[in-house]
Amino acid sequence: YESDMSDLKELGELGFGTSGHVFKMLHVPSQEVIAVKQMRRSGNPEENKRIAMDLEVVLKSHDCPYIVQCLGCFITQAEVWICMELMSTCFDKLLKRLSSPIPEPIVGKVTLATVRALHYLKENHDVIHRDVKPSNILLDNRGNVKLCDFGISGHLINSKANTKNAGCTAYLAPERINPPDPTKPTYDIRADVWSLGITLVELATSVFPYPGCNSDFEVLSRVLQEDPPSLPPDKDFSQEFRDFIKDCLLKDYRVRPKYRALLEHAFLKRYMEENVDVSNWYTHCVPVSPSPAFRSDGDSSNTPSGHH
Ligand code: ADP
Ligand code: MG
Repeated sequence: YESDMSDLKELGELGFGTSGHVFKMLHVPSQEVIAVKQMRRSGNPEENKRIAMDLEVVLKSHDCPYIVQCLGCFITQAEVWICMELMSTCFDKLLKRLSSPIPEPIVGKVTLATVRALHYLKENHDVIHRDVKPSNILLDNRGNVKLCDFGISGHLINSKANTKNAGCTAYLAPERINPPDPTKPTYDIRADVWSLGITLVELATSVFPYPGCNSDFEVLSRVLQEDPPSLPPDKDFSQEFRDFIKDCLLKDYRVRPKYRALLEHAFLKRYMEENVDVSNWYTHCVPVSPSPAFRSDGDSSNTPSGHH
């Protein structure tokens, strides 16, 4: 579809993070409502690399149903706009709006989609995401779960060049906080497995698993010093879910499973078979807002819920 930027009419803000703002926009000629991530090109090489990486990963992942789909992009001297399929929300906003935990079967489906997306990136493009957290996992109104935000993702081969980009501290794996051999950065996909584990505990309990921290330093020290978080024993979670979390949050990354093993785990096997109506759950769990386009529930994607 030949199109230009003036074909787009802004309808409201969907979110923002480190690299830019995401707007809900109407594509006037087709009457399609889409999401547009707008990033300013400041000329700062780090920032330009972020934009290029985000665009590159999203463009080449067109054949993965667990990654947000790109519809096209606009590049001007001042800005880059990435046009994407419109999703309903991200899990960070959803948690804040719900203020109650997300039921295990829903978390099961979120886990399956996220692991498949991360496995796809690794197997097909040798890419690691490096910023797995609730604000980067999206949900659409049909109940599809998709991963987004590839700004700090990196190629495994030249990952050394990217070690400055840390990702969100709150979800950082122990081996990224305190690398075993700082002269040879070991960028392993298993750091993303840790971040996934933290994310899942947060979704299933509705609180960030290192509560009451007042600084990044405090979180990082606790990640290194404490036993890994786990699901509270008094709550009604399946043994498979508890085991899955335990595996993702093994502090020693050398024994932490990779995606292939996670996809063989009983917890994920169950959700490969079981039907869960995520769409029905979503439409009933969130009160209908009169004007979604102008709702401003923000997106503090660098601050996990319960950690301010
Ligand atoms: P950043 O690099 O700035 O974190 P993201 O790509 O993570 O940018 O987008 C920021 C936020 O915008 C997300 O957390 C989400 O709430 C919202 N968002 C992003 N893409 C979409 C989309 N396709 N549909 C709906 N909301 C989106
Ligand atoms: Mg983000």
